[in-house]
Amino acid sequence: MTDETANQADIDRVNFLLTLRRRGISDQAVLRAMGEVSRTAFVSPDTIASAYADQALPIECGQTISQPYVVGYMTEQLGLKPHHRVLEIGTGSGYQAAILAKLAREVVSIERYRTLADQARRRLGAEGAANVEVIVGDGFEGCPDRAPFDRIIVTAAAEEVPEALAEQLADGGVMIMPLGPENGPQHLVKLTKSQTPEGVRLGQEKLIPVRFVPMLRGKAREL
Ligand code: SAH
Repeated sequence: MTDETANQADIDRVNFLLTLRRRGISDQAVLRAMGEVSRTAFVSPDTIASAYADQALPIECGQTISQPYVVGYMTEQLGLKPHHRVLEIGTGSGYQAAILAKLAREVVSIERYRTLADQARRRLGAEGAANVEVIVGDGFEGCPDRAPFDRIIVTAAAEEVPEALAEQLADGGVMIMPLGPENGPQHLVKLTKSQTPEGVRLGQEKLIPVRFVPMLRGKAREL
């Protein structure tokens, strides 16, 4: 990298954080984590020049790395504490997992494409995120062996809240996920699990409109 491109990269990163703030991300810990993780390490080589633009970008297997604002927003809404154990569905590039890893004790992330899981594992290793475990599997089933989770974040859209995930959420736990059809209107929901005298309650709050790739059933047959 020449000095000039290094300077440009610094400028891009400063602008990136300013954009997140301007759009309303105010949690200092989230902004710090997003300032520390290099998004260039998680995008494809052919989109590296756009790594710090506030947009989703294509990655391998026809998937996308989420828009930074949406990553910041979902992370902020999770209200992570350093002792939390987190489940992520949809590892993709590993970028969201890298942010979660800075803010929580442990992250288990499930991806249905082996290619993406292997690549994300390598990238997370290179970034020093030792507290993330990437598993190839079907996110609709969650990870019962490791449940309950204090927080669950789903980064692919489903029509309904997967039952296994609601079950694997701890009491008092929070889950954020996009709901809606593949090519129709989607919005984020925040689910909060609590015990009431009548039994377990899953409170649901509707958040912002979004656009995510669909959550698909089963491990991917292709790599
Ligand atoms: N969090 C990612 C965003 C990835 S896009 C990032 O930061 O880059 C959503 C990902 O969810 C895709 O990689 C897709 O393959 C994956 N996915 C879709 N359905 C899934 C399922 N049932 N189980 C696990 N992963 C799934």
